[in-house]
Amino acid sequence: MTSVLVINSGSSSVKYQLVDADTGERYASGLVERIGDALGRIQHRSGDTLDERELAVPDHAAGFAAMLDAFARAGATVSELGISAVGHRVVQGGSEFVAPTLITDQVAERILALGALAPLHNPAHYQAIVAARQAFPDVPHVAVFDTAFHQTVPAAAHTYAIDAEVAAEHGIRRYGFHGISHLVVSRRAAAYVGRPVAELKQIVMHLGNGASACAIDGGRSIDTSMGLTPLEGLVMGTRSGDIDPGLMLHLLRAGYDAAQLDNLLNKRSGLMGLAGSNDFRDLLAAADSGDAAAQLAFDVYVHAIRRYLGAYLVALGGADTIVFTAGVGENSAEVRAAACAGLEWCGVRIDPDRNAAASREARRISTDDSKIAVLVVPTDEEAEIARQAWQLVSG
Ligand code: AMP
Repeated sequence: MTSVLVINSGSSSVKYQLVDADTGERYASGLVERIGDALGRIQHRSGDTLDERELAVPDHAAGFAAMLDAFARAGATVSELGISAVGHRVVQGGSEFVAPTLITDQVAERILALGALAPLHNPAHYQAIVAARQAFPDVPHVAVFDTAFHQTVPAAAHTYAIDAEVAAEHGIRRYGFHGISHLVVSRRAAAYVGRPVAELKQIVMHLGNGASACAIDGGRSIDTSMGLTPLEGLVMGTRSGDIDPGLMLHLLRAGYDAAQLDNLLNKRSGLMGLAGSNDFRDLLAAADSGDAAAQLAFDVYVHAIRRYLGAYLVALGGADTIVFTAGVGENSAEVRAAACAGLEWCGVRIDPDRNAAASREARRISTDDSKIAVLVVPTDEEAEIARQAWQLVSG
């Protein structure tokens, strides 16, 4: 039995999938939302059936009860289906969690303590871990960390040039995120080009609502654009990406407080801040119809991608693959074309027809004679969490 229940929790939501760790096949998936509100909601999919209900979900434990109930109503309880592990996605593993880890009471407490570095994520993970361990006491629970893949980034790339004592006291360094996605996408890209990952220099652009770039040398992350928090780096749906930190001082002196800055940079920046929407499809439609703000947002977004492409081509000493993934990366031919425009001098030649063709599969969008293979590879973080959890428990 290789089924793993994968849990991806937020402060007011729990996403879940029942996945075959061997094949990545998805048996069922769902989302419990608005946990803690007067009325919550669950959507549960199994096969072609969608079961949607509104109900009170006061806390994460109630969210798990709703999930168990949804499985039963879809025809088989989780115990009847059988699971060999529960895999929990954990955003921040700090410097101490460098690999998938079996969750004990002590590990759960450390995940909670790392909430100081990820206040939006780790406390929510902790709540879900407690509820899940109560709901499934007889199977191993495994934490899979988004930061772990970036533990190979050398000190020169992960150190901020601030007072070293202050950095040490507060755990300040570049941790990087989206590691589960960068790992699975780089492996799938290697399989697509038919070469061992250990031989390849790869640049992965994970362009979703959150976005990050990663330079991967022989399967190891050597640099990544997100930093201490998932705010640094590329322009995102609602997050600013790179800014001059002096901008924050300027606003603090102008009367902003920490909560206002947090809201500005995490929720009212990026595409949302520039053009009023974080949905890339809206942005493209608006830019097409001549909206100057939408066009500027697109240009700023692409400019940031190109800045990191250039940096990582130098960091790696060239590249074998450039890989686009996640909502925008997998779907927007416009972004991919603009990001790779004029790079023939360094061996990138995009085939416009291949780039424009829509597909759900891994594919090449560069010409056959392009020195660097430019690929689109769908990400599948849940399948990777299941694989890593299963590998640890079957060990
Ligand atoms: P993710 O966080 O990976 O789910 O990606 C979400 C982003 O992908 C949003 O900005 C969506 O607007 C964008 N997206 C999804 N589908 C498309 C599409 N067909 N064309 C352009 N952007 C898309």
